[in-house]
Amino acid sequence: MANKRVLLAGGRVIDPLAGKVRIWDVLIENGKIVKLGKGLKAKQAQRIDCRRKHIAPGFIDMHCHLREPGHEDAETIATGTKAALAGGFTRVCPMPNTDPPVDSEAQVRFQLCRAEEAGFARVHPIGCCTRARAGKELAEIGAMKKAGAVAVSDDGAWIADPRVMRRVLDYSKAFDIPVISHCELAGLDYGVANEGLVSTRLGLRAGPDVSEAAAAARDILLAEFVGARIHIAHVSCATTVDIIRWAKARGIQVTAEASPHHFTLTDEALAGFDTNYKVNPPLRTEKDRQAVIRGLADGTIDAIATDHAPHTKSEKEVEFDNAPPGMIGFETAFGLGYEQLVLTGDMRLPDYINRMTVAPARILGLPVPRIEPGANAELVILDLKAQWTYTPEQVMSRSHNSPFFGRQFQGRVVGGFLGGEQFWLLHPA
Ligand SMILES: [Zn+2]
Ligand SMILES: [Zn+2]
Repeated sequence: MANKRVLLAGGRVIDPLAGKVRIWDVLIENGKIVKLGKGLKAKQAQRIDCRRKHIAPGFIDMHCHLREPGHEDAETIATGTKAALAGGFTRVCPMPNTDPPVDSEAQVRFQLCRAEEAGFARVHPIGCCTRARAGKELAEIGAMKKAGAVAVSDDGAWIADPRVMRRVLDYSKAFDIPVISHCELAGLDYGVANEGLVSTRLGLRAGPDVSEAAAAARDILLAEFVGARIHIAHVSCATTVDIIRWAKARGIQVTAEASPHHFTLTDEALAGFDTNYKVNPPLRTEKDRQAVIRGLADGTIDAIATDHAPHTKSEKEVEFDNAPPGMIGFETAFGLGYEQLVLTGDMRLPDYINRMTVAPARILGLPVPRIEPGANAELVILDLKAQWTYTPEQVMSRSHNSPFFGRQFQGRVVGGFLGGEQFWLLHPA
């Protein structure tokens, strides 16, 4: 432990729970926050000037892909969690579509061990709903939860058989663990793009947005019937937002997430056939993008999740049709959200931070992150004025499949604290 006492002086402390920002000093001792207040004096403390900086709880990413085991050439738990920390995520939840998939207690334990060895962001694994994500027999839901899994999901695949989904919801209700649904109606898949004017113009094999909305509607109604919790992954279209809004008003236990690329980009980006824009669900229209932003602003969509999906160069450097979907997202998430949600005036800063911290913690049953005396010092320091350009050289992830290289960003994570250790990124305060 490098520093026993640290005083963060004069920063703007964001409280995403109360929705407030206050200028406060934060005194940290042995990894714990011991005091908050104005003009704090602390003898023998390392003083960090945080004037013109913001301080927020560490971000939680409830949806990412770390590729270990099975695809370590694209990412490992170590490289992925290091990239996560660089983006301000102190906790991440990898999806179980590894090889082999995380469908047993042993696999959950393996991920936790690997994360611990790496020592970067904390990992909370998500287990499969069904064995090998095949959509037939149930995975070891209870045993995985006991071992530390925080949710179950067959992400990448939708559970087509309603009897299987009903049983998954039954079990997850009994074990009090949320089910995360990748909504893509069987037989009506997305192809490689959103079905519409752009896909027609570009001649791309496409699938309609109703595929997502109809799948979400079925899962939400089944969850209501069973009395279980359902979480809709990567909401990408206006109709799905409407359905979730309706379901929440009806009292159904539904939550949802959106990914930065879906509230930043539209299918117009596919014009250059750059496979880094190919994601699942696909980028949609401006109307959908606006609906996702409205959903985030009014709380219909609870959380922001990256869906960080690393792929090697050789996997992505193929024809658009054959490239695997997904882009890396840890290191650009905060900047994209700040630009698209806060600088536009659509959301207040504390509410934006809420979608990255409090909301995912509540959905997953993790301790709600707080900056208050007695809490662990798990926080990030943000420079909202910082202008920066994203380049391949900065990337901590093992993969480089991002369409955002060369883009100007405003606002970045400059450092933080996790588990009693201080981490500094590109620009020490
Ligand atoms: Zn998915
Ligand atoms: Zn995913």
